[in-house]
Amino acid sequence: MESLRAEPTVRRDNFLSMYDDGYDHAAVERRWQEAWDDASAYRTPDDVEDPTYVLGMYPYPSGQLHMGHVRNYTITDAYARYRRMCGDDVLHPMGWDAFGLPAENAAKERDTNPRDWTFDCIDTMKTQMESMGFGYDWDREIATCTPRYYKWNQWLFTRFLEEGLAERRAADVNWCPDCETVLADEQVEGDDELCWRCAHPVEQRELEQWFLSITEYADQLVDYIDELEGWPDSVRQMQRNWIGRQGGTRLEFDLSGPDAEYGGVEAFSTRVDTLFGATFFALAPDHPIAEELIKADDSVREFVRHEADPDGDEPNGVATALTATNPITGEELPVFVADFVLSDVGTGALMGVPAHDDRDYVFAEKMGVDITPVVAPVPEDGTDPEAPDVSEGAYTGDGVLVNSESYTGLESAEARERLTEDIEGAEHHTQYRLRDWGISRQRYWGTPIPIVNCPACGSVPVPEEQLPVELPDFINTTGNPLDAAEEWKRTTCPDCGGDAVRETDTMDTFVDSSWYFLRYVSPELADAPFDLDRANDWMPVDQYVGGIEHAVMHLLYSRFVTKTLADHEGLDHREPFTNLLAQGMVQLEGEKMSKSKGNVVSPQAIVSEYGADTARLFMMQAAQPERDFDWSEQGVQSAYSFLTRLKELVESYAAGEIETTGEAGPIAGYVDSETEAAVVVATEEYDELVFNTAVRGAQSLVGVLRQYREYTAVHAATFERALSVSVRLLAPVAPHLCEELWATLDTEGFVVDAEWPDSDADRETVEKRRRLVENTREDVRQIVNVAGIDDPERIDIAVTPEWKHEALNVAIDSDAPNVIGELMQHETIKRHGDDAASYGQQLQNDREALQRTLAPDTELEALESAAWLIEREFDAEVRVLAAEDAPDDVAKKAEPSRPAIDIRE
Ligand SMILES: [Zn+2]
Ligand SMILES: [Zn+2]
Repeated sequence: MESLRAEPTVRRDNFLSMYDDGYDHAAVERRWQEAWDDASAYRTPDDVEDPTYVLGMYPYPSGQLHMGHVRNYTITDAYARYRRMCGDDVLHPMGWDAFGLPAENAAKERDTNPRDWTFDCIDTMKTQMESMGFGYDWDREIATCTPRYYKWNQWLFTRFLEEGLAERRAADVNWCPDCETVLADEQVEGDDELCWRCAHPVEQRELEQWFLSITEYADQLVDYIDELEGWPDSVRQMQRNWIGRQGGTRLEFDLSGPDAEYGGVEAFSTRVDTLFGATFFALAPDHPIAEELIKADDSVREFVRHEADPDGDEPNGVATALTATNPITGEELPVFVADFVLSDVGTGALMGVPAHDDRDYVFAEKMGVDITPVVAPVPEDGTDPEAPDVSEGAYTGDGVLVNSESYTGLESAEARERLTEDIEGAEHHTQYRLRDWGISRQRYWGTPIPIVNCPACGSVPVPEEQLPVELPDFINTTGNPLDAAEEWKRTTCPDCGGDAVRETDTMDTFVDSSWYFLRYVSPELADAPFDLDRANDWMPVDQYVGGIEHAVMHLLYSRFVTKTLADHEGLDHREPFTNLLAQGMVQLEGEKMSKSKGNVVSPQAIVSEYGADTARLFMMQAAQPERDFDWSEQGVQSAYSFLTRLKELVESYAAGEIETTGEAGPIAGYVDSETEAAVVVATEEYDELVFNTAVRGAQSLVGVLRQYREYTAVHAATFERALSVSVRLLAPVAPHLCEELWATLDTEGFVVDAEWPDSDADRETVEKRRRLVENTREDVRQIVNVAGIDDPERIDIAVTPEWKHEALNVAIDSDAPNVIGELMQHETIKRHGDDAASYGQQLQNDREALQRTLAPDTELEALESAAWLIEREFDAEVRVLAAEDAPDDVAKKAEPSRPAIDIRE
């Protein structure tokens, strides 16, 4: 997809240091890419039922994959691989958002044509994707610039036309004189209104344009956002804001001037309850009455022509000689022409209520207009409401009406209802910020709009059997290229057969991307855009991943087109994407990478130096996918070192270089429980796409295995299972090396297709066990330090007595204000006398923070199995004791999850 913040890549010199103890990643990666390819490992047969559909937003073929792409596609690839190992059929396709202005500009610069340039870029980027090990079903590849794809854009357009959802009308458009094209509002940037692509100031022009009637679906689009629970809240809110639905009242104010009567002028207000506080009326600079005034009133003309700035920070305006009659009070209000009133939002006229609107307030202060409060906050103590103090600013909340004649005392909501009923001509009205989707572009490299303009018949759609209308050869011109294609342009009218001219505009490329996810379902299909039955089985996309810059337009257009296909083409789905992840940026020293700043790190450089697995692992472990993170050379190296160590460990084991035993002691128990823990954590986190936590779990298991090997002869079955689990847990992120190691472990088939490891362990228990072991080790360290013990000889660890564990649970369950009395009702606790009383007091003091702990026998077992880590760290004998086996003075100090520790020198 053409990104609004494309990050072109350039190679930075001298930033890669040589790294000598590594592995031959190039050979490993090539070997498995070829093996997967030979086996068609990622192909999704047409006959699978409802595969898990995992999709990354397809890229604009700009020439090179950048870090943003690599992160985006590593996320989808890791997730797709995880789902596949869980036993799902997976659909994970890739294609090219291949039309667009940059190709045209690049072709001009290079004296070639956009098609050749685009396919060159596609070749390069596809090779780069393959080198990253992304597991795509390339049999489903699409490129939107091919006639067999864009034919269906044209078909879609004619279907819209038939359903009354497309129309041609004159419209003011944003025009970039430099790019010579119409720009969408979102492509006009900043207060200076500059072209997003070339930074040239944008102008307004009136042109005949084709529009798709997305506004017909405004209510559906906004209502259904609430149901999109798999989308980030931020994106849902951006869509709501973009649609901008507001309920309010339309009412008329009579306008008159010294020389003319203008009759009723419509205004829209969401706050008609503040009508008694209206102290001015304002017109947009291009309101028809303002345009009338320009002719006679010099100051209005001066303001409209030279001062009005709708995007300025401050509201500006000019007084006129007109007055407006407040329809409820009959009061005459001054009329201004003001630049904060927009003609394309609402009616281009508004009532100004400075006491209750921030912007009106600033404007009134500036123009010396009265500020009259008429809505008061509801007093909490039940006293009479008092008009708010508005000497410093507006009161913008709802409340109770004051100074409002017979409406005084009504609450805002009721007052809005009553006033809308009572005022003649007033009515409820819903207004939207959303505008129809203008799709006409005056460029070459896009889908020709399939219309023939006939002098006799008007605009006639090209019949389906004549589609696609193919692009002519590239025409390098400064104007509209298709308009200059004289021969191509001339045609005959499909209706009357007379001489006619083709439409010479092409479509906005957002049309291409508004339905491409459906084409992957049946990319070869010749007689329809997609196979309906299969689309009904396979859609919606289960997990969609892409940049936040597409949070509004692409996603909104895709939702719109999906709804129209549901209404008119029998698609069973009304929303295209069930779950959406908007990935964060890869930055360098806290800054976005950009060519202009010269701080771009090329993914290809990392791949050649360290391999794709390292690049992927580094990206996935650096942060949660939604977060921005800093690229770091050190992070890349540490990922590489980890993979190197993993490889060494698996290969030493397979080669019989690790001493083994058939006897499973407590250490094997510990390794087993850590293996279970890694599985439980990784599974939960992969499910939620929290790759960094998933990967950390697997990495720490590998760390444990290395320590195990160094400490003693390993229990073969336990060790082998843990290695096999580690390799599988890491396979979604580092697929090549894990495939190599999977083969080294002498297993059947690809790790790609291996079964995801399973565990019955419970995550909470797993985490309690780990915390217990970690805290106990930390306590031992502290004691050794504080007591200055140089060479501990024996460390005794005593687990809590049963009665304390029971007392803790009683305290957690108790509702009593003081828990001690309740504890003393339990004979098993009470018989511990003073100890019970003092522990009871401690529980009472900590009441709010009490948490359930592992039972004493589970604690004992967890600590016994981890004792070797403490022995290894302190080179001392470690005894883990049940309370009853420990000396009284030691056992006494033990508490649930906090064993007592006694160290002898
Ligand atoms: Zn431009
Ligand atoms: Zn005709």
